[in-house]
Amino acid sequence: TREQLLASSHQPALTRDGRRVKIAANAGSELDAAMAVKNGAEAIGILRTEFLYLTRDSAPTEEEQKETLTRMGEIMGERPIYVRTLDVGGDKDIPYLHLPVEANPFLGVRSLRFSFKKPDIFLTQLRAILRAGVQANLRIMLPMISQLDDLIQAQRYVEQAHQALEQEGIPHRWPLEAAMMVETPSAALLTAAFAKHLDYFSIGTNDLTQYTLAAERGNPELTSYHDGLHPSVLYLIRKVVQDAHQFGKKTGVCGELAGDPTAVPILVGLGVDELSMNPGSIPRVKDIIRRLELPSVSRLAENALQAESAIDVRCMAEKFLSTL
Ligand code: PEP
Ligand code: MG
Repeated sequence: TREQLLASSHQPALTRDGRRVKIAANAGSELDAAMAVKNGAEAIGILRTEFLYLTRDSAPTEEEQKETLTRMGEIMGERPIYVRTLDVGGDKDIPYLHLPVEANPFLGVRSLRFSFKKPDIFLTQLRAILRAGVQANLRIMLPMISQLDDLIQAQRYVEQAHQALEQEGIPHRWPLEAAMMVETPSAALLTAAFAKHLDYFSIGTNDLTQYTLAAERGNPELTSYHDGLHPSVLYLIRKVVQDAHQFGKKTGVCGELAGDPTAVPILVGLGVDELSMNPGSIPRVKDIIRRLELPSVSRLAENALQAESAIDVRCMAEKFLSTL
């Protein structure tokens, strides 16, 4: 029953043969954080910080952001929170930021690229994260990276925020663990180059699928392209996991795919260390993980890579699930 699932959801998720898969929640509000704890999340795998900027008419101050992040930390206790820096543009508009009008917004000045154009907004957010990190177990997560220079530049800003706080004598968490999202095929292919600069890779399959299949997410004319179980996306996930592991670094999936029961055996089979999902999906996903065995999910993942379409992969995975 749902109650039994929820009760066992407060225990870690191990496969039958003992591989632990860390289960985290995606959050975009304090309410989500409360739901995360209630459903047994071990972390917030991605905190979508856009909520701090929405329903208002100017950017939030450093103080305001710090207070909200501190409250999130109180809700989560010791559990880590990966704070994803502002991911505006593309599917996420914030009117007062006056994003440029572009022919291809998803390929334009969005996300980290916007942060680089507006260093004041970026540094304010980074300072708030560093300061809230004194009390909360925060890490920083960088979105929409497509080349090494994006990461180097972003890390320079983080360093700059730290230096300024230091000079002003303002307490803050340092060093701060950094992670990046893998949302572009380019970033996935370059995992090895990134690996010496950070500890954790979080695969954003919503955007990664969009960019791999060149099909705008949310465009209702293109729904047949919007499946992260497409073999091309699975190849990229495998590449990220293999290259990250080569350097002793962990990987997670935080797109919608991570909370999709059909996808879970394949993702575990590909060696993904952590899944981050809507809080409500956690009990069911933990239950599925406890039924898995590594050799059979590895085989399933291998077969999925050889499949000809996302539909074929789905059929294969559903058949597998029905035998558990
Ligand atoms: C993703 O792209 O998969 C992701 C988790 O980020 P968002 O959905 O916020 O773009
Ligand atoms: Mg994304």
